Amino acid sequence: MVTFYQSTRDKSNKKAASQAILQGLAEDGGLFVPVEFPKVDLDFKKLKNASYQEVAELVLKAFFDDFSADEIKLMVTKAYGEKFDSPEIAPLKNLGNHYILELFHGETIAFKDMALSILPHLMTQAAKKNGVTNEIIILTATSGDTGKAAMAGFADVPQTKIIVFYPKGGVSHIQEQQMLTQKGANVHVVGIDGNFDQAQTAVKEMFNNKSLHDQLLKNHQQFSSANSMNIGRLIPQVAYYIYAYAQLVKTGQITDGEKINFSVPTGNFGNILAAYYAKKLGLPVGQLICASNKNNVLTDFFKTGLYDKNREFYVTSSPSMDILVSSNLERLIFELTDESDDETLTLLTALSAEGHYQISKKMMSKLQDFIADWASEEEISKEINETFENENYVLDPHTAVANYVYHQIQPKEKTVVVSTASPYKFPKVVLEGLQKSGTDLSEKIDDFAAVKSLEKLSGIPLPKAVLGLEKAEILHHTVVPVQEMQKEVEKYLGLK
Ligand SMILES: *Cc1c(COP(=O)(O)O)cnc(C)c1O
Repeated sequence: MVTFYQSTRDKSNKKAASQAILQGLAEDGGLFVPVEFPKVDLDFKKLKNASYQEVAELVLKAFFDDFSADEIKLMVTKAYGEKFDSPEIAPLKNLGNHYILELFHGETIAFKDMALSILPHLMTQAAKKNGVTNEIIILTATSGDTGKAAMAGFADVPQTKIIVFYPKGGVSHIQEQQMLTQKGANVHVVGIDGNFDQAQTAVKEMFNNKSLHDQLLKNHQQFSSANSMNIGRLIPQVAYYIYAYAQLVKTGQITDGEKINFSVPTGNFGNILAAYYAKKLGLPVGQLICASNKNNVLTDFFKTGLYDKNREFYVTSSPSMDILVSSNLERLIFELTDESDDETLTLLTALSAEGHYQISKKMMSKLQDFIADWASEEEISKEINETFENENYVLDPHTAVANYVYHQIQPKEKTVVVSTASPYKFPKVVLEGLQKSGTDLSEKIDDFAAVKSLEKLSGIPLPKAVLGLEKAEILHHTVVPVQEMQKEVEKYLGLK
């Protein structure tokens, strides 16, 4: 069976997997979703002994079946190798009554590495497969982690260039330093005077700008996206949910077939949607816990059916979740409408025109797979503190959100909290939490001093990603207003 992909806004727009990956976003502004979900044999008697790479192969072969088994095996081997500092790739830790799935053992110590270490391989292989000789221009907005992980993945990959926009002042010092010191002749990082949503909106507009496309084509170039709007980002993430389940079966923590929950720190709704896709494949999942920070637009949506981005935007201690427009929710909306492209288009058009939409009662009734709640800044800090005191485990602020919400909900089933970043990526906030809630260090020390104190206090070895980062040379200096993002793209690509 060949799995085709259709746009959420126009079902007649169908593509093979490789074409959908190359393109990123559909021409009509929609997101690609599988026309039919593939069948995967989730036999945990076998899978419990499978390596991460083998689980990833299983998932990718099923979803991206216009790539050959050999091609997939090679890409998986290249992606999930020695760049990860744990041979398990996604180790599962026991924390009292629940589990933590650590997804931060890749090159940039955030979970984005799980997908972005394979996306460049998928993209260049897809170009070959489709006879595309244009240079692929990766255009990306980042709330902090995608940018670095995408650049690390695409740096010096032939036939590609990557341009990353990030909100100046909206990311941690470590995150910014990671991006600004990125090497590679084909990478360009630009700070913007604005927030992530503004960056993401401007990037989407460029994707949908016909005349810009024509200019690119004349220059033998075409856009693609490394954001989780790209189906090539989303599907590799399905693998770690299956892998986590297999580990629990293997170690006898659950019986084969027992339902478990996942609590996911959520921003753009990509990670948790991958969990939902895993459930659709047949993974025994009870509930998906959608955990938000103070930008709790998703909590309200799951509770009331009203998605309303007209609200104050907060810069929080979990910046990768500081998002008011969760792009991947569109893929869920499409499902809730029984795959109606018309209804999806109507709702999403209302979102961009008026900033809100309300889903019907019927659609609401299909949200039972999800449960949502959020954590305030104080609650996050307290969670970091208490988890260290009680379990001797150090949470990063994003994971702390999911751990807090898990504790609030207290589900009956066994629950895996998905950990999306190393505590070393947000050392100041973590240190504040560990030392005692309420001590504000922000004025007193910088991230790198915090890294040293954190190492002393926690005893967790420093990951490669932060060693040498402080003294690394800053290679990128550009900052532009939101209105000039397109001009910056044109300038860098030599379009005008
Ligand atoms: C991106 C990110 C998230 C949010 O993930 P989504 O897939 O956008 O919901 C959470 N935590 C960290 C550390 C991230 O980098």
